[in-house]
Amino acid sequence: MTSHYDHAQVQEFWQYVWERDDVYALPEDATDPTYVLGMFPYTSGELHMGHIRNYAITDAYARYRRMQGDGVLHPMGWDAFGLPAENAAYERASDPESWTQACIRRMREELKTMGFGYDWSREITTCEPDYYRWNQWLFKRLYEEGLVKYEAATVNWCPDCETVLADAQVDERSESSDQVSGDAASHDGDRVCWRCETPVGRRELDQWFFTITEYAEELTAGLDDLDGWPDGVREIQRNWIGRQEGARITFEVDPGNAVDVFSTRPDTIYGATYLAVSPGHELARQLAATDDAVTEYVDRARERGPEEIGYSGVETEATATHPMTGEELPVYVAGYVLDDVGTGAVMGVPGHNERDHVFASEHDLPIERVIAPKDGTVDLDVGDAPYTGDGIVEHSGKYSGLESETVRKRLFADVGAIENDVTYRLRDWLISRQRYWGTPIPVVHCDDCGHVLVPDDELPVELPEFVRTTGNPLAEHESFRHTTCPECGEPARRETDTMDTFVDSSWYYLRFLSPDLAEAPFDTDRADEWLPVDIYVGGDEHAILHLLYIRFFTRALADMGLLEQREPVEKLVSQGTVLYDGEKMSSSKGNVVTPQEYGAETTRLFVLSAAHPEQDFEWTANNVRGAYDLQQSVHRMVTSFVNEGETRVERRGHDDYLDEEIDRTIAAVTEEYDRFRFHRVATEIRELARLLRRYRAFDQPHDDVYRRGLLTVTALLSPMAPHLGEELWNKLRGDGLVVEAEWPEPARNVDAYEAERRLTEKTIDDVRDIVDVAAIDDPERIELVVAPEWQYRVAAMNHAASDATLVDQAVDDDRIGVERATIASFVETLGSDTGQQLSADRERTLLEQASWLVTDEFDATVTVRAAEPNDESATKARPGKPAIDIS
Ligand SMILES: [Zn+2]
Ligand SMILES: [Zn+2]
Repeated sequence: MTSHYDHAQVQEFWQYVWERDDVYALPEDATDPTYVLGMFPYTSGELHMGHIRNYAITDAYARYRRMQGDGVLHPMGWDAFGLPAENAAYERASDPESWTQACIRRMREELKTMGFGYDWSREITTCEPDYYRWNQWLFKRLYEEGLVKYEAATVNWCPDCETVLADAQVDERSESSDQVSGDAASHDGDRVCWRCETPVGRRELDQWFFTITEYAEELTAGLDDLDGWPDGVREIQRNWIGRQEGARITFEVDPGNAVDVFSTRPDTIYGATYLAVSPGHELARQLAATDDAVTEYVDRARERGPEEIGYSGVETEATATHPMTGEELPVYVAGYVLDDVGTGAVMGVPGHNERDHVFASEHDLPIERVIAPKDGTVDLDVGDAPYTGDGIVEHSGKYSGLESETVRKRLFADVGAIENDVTYRLRDWLISRQRYWGTPIPVVHCDDCGHVLVPDDELPVELPEFVRTTGNPLAEHESFRHTTCPECGEPARRETDTMDTFVDSSWYYLRFLSPDLAEAPFDTDRADEWLPVDIYVGGDEHAILHLLYIRFFTRALADMGLLEQREPVEKLVSQGTVLYDGEKMSSSKGNVVTPQEYGAETTRLFVLSAAHPEQDFEWTANNVRGAYDLQQSVHRMVTSFVNEGETRVERRGHDDYLDEEIDRTIAAVTEEYDRFRFHRVATEIRELARLLRRYRAFDQPHDDVYRRGLLTVTALLSPMAPHLGEELWNKLRGDGLVVEAEWPEPARNVDAYEAERRLTEKTIDDVRDIVDVAAIDDPERIELVVAPEWQYRVAAMNHAASDATLVDQAVDDDRIGVERATIASFVETLGSDTGQQLSADRERTLLEQASWLVTDEFDATVTVRAAEPNDESATKARPGKPAIDIS
């Protein structure tokens, strides 16, 4: 019989058994199960190594929790809408639906081949009407809550994808890669489509938005409580939301109305030398009505966008009144002022603001210094460069001489036109997409009634058949487009935009709770019991888009009374990248390693044991080999034990050592699983397996001890290598599944053992050193002599006392009974080490239990004994450090 572990055959068999016994299904009546979720995959057609790593992490943790006795919810589904399906269908003369379903079949098969344990009865697919009808239903509920707006907006437009992009889907191309031409002028090429890298242009369109900005304050404040999230992700979200405290300052403008500006530095207000509004500002529109130069500039700015328009601007006929000095300031329309940042208007303080400084320099506006650095630099010239720090305020009326901070507070108190205010960088979420393969927005446009929501009982608005066209297929679809108004019954036009696919993924974790529910998107009672998601694992590229939207949705649903939970995810694991030759594995780079090359189990075990989940790691054949070898060697040990194991019944000293080590490993591995340190789990298991091998080679193994050791290795390894786990469990036990087994428990308390084992490790190291230094070729006899009892008593006495006091106390102690001089010279060597002391007996027992390791390593007779009175060999022994005598 071969002892070789035949992966393919074993995998197929156990996958069959798991499915037959339905071991991963979570009962509907489960009470607060542990919810373990990997970000569901986009249906691209195949799993890549990032997926494998992601799902190996959730699977290992789900299995671990299941063995700990938890009910575990570990579902899988498909993020199935999106432009790539549409493009692929277009290229292949197919349709997105068939293409996507084929991808799903392939990917589902791959996941099953990997042996991931999902509750497939909960599978969801976002492109199916049963799912996306709830996107439409939720759109309506958000609308009713006032969280949807329909607005003309200048939007990012990708000419290649022929769709609008959210701000977060526009990538800023890095400067370095774009400075080939040496042309300093910025252009639209700096901003590219996240998907196809085509330079992004602008268009003005009527668009649907979710007003996520209403939750800006909550979403940013909530980050403080997300202790289970990586700091990096929280910081990225915090920056993305971009909360800023400052002041809203009102300027009277003539002609026109008052204009509010937002400033984080109201203390610089005396340095304001002009007012500037964005091209989209209401004042700019008003002035454009009578001023051709303004009209021309506003049009140009809209066409080109802020990057190209740079620091250009146009002076208007209007003037603004400085709220402090009453002075008249010129008013500009300037492209560097953005419509949707702050109030879309700024007071220009060129002496103390970088951007204002550039603008003022280009337009010959006065630059004045009203803040002096606190370090006493008096001759600082802000004409060359602005001074942007805090300092001492000057040329500012009664505020001169005060510190910036003080002036800010005073102004709020003193001046009616200056008020505390907060702004956010976060923009509303543009969800309109002019594409086919997404959820139709459930709206009808009627000439008389305006936009009318499709009634609930007419949902879902289903996608019609795909039309091949370069534009928006829905707009080309006559029978879809033409409908009747739900309110007045007159002919009307159906909305042809579909929803951003990030809407689908913003609440999918809720659908897994009750995937077949026909009356609602999810079961509220169950959600209140089963949520939040205990563990969520996914790539770190999702730090903003998805992970922000899912938080927004959860809060909005809570405010609608559909949920109690306001945060969806308790603990987030943001997994690192799998690299190959230092680069991210990707099909476009042609450096993809597929799971098929190494087999499911080896791949899983390798990606888990290579690094901490949050770290990047390099895929190397050598390290994969390590994962493979571990399985083979454990398999060989179990097979040979089961087939031909000669064991004994009576216990020997070193059996206790094994028992202690098995217990210690269980405790350590349990802690590592709890902390997601699978790489540490693998190391611990590898060490225990090595020890068991040595134990068996050293002496005939004790049946109970060795069997327990092998069962422990099997159980601890099985969350990471479940097929091997089942195979070995079956060989060792003959019945039951390891997936349903109980997690092993240490047989004794191992708290003290970590410290105890350092004694044996150190002693063996010392033996090695002595053999080395003394160049003893072939030691025959090694004696380990534990220090005399009295030394432990003295060492356990009060170390805070002076040496003399300690000696006095020891002399007075009858149980010690050693001469003062001997005690004194021992106390001298004690030093200030107050480390935990073992008793003499315990030390001796531990060394006896571990002495077989010394025998094994040096092939010598090893004895362990306590020091005798007047023992010459024992003179060097100290508590925690036995004397070593080698001959
Ligand atoms: Zn594109
Ligand atoms: Zn109507």
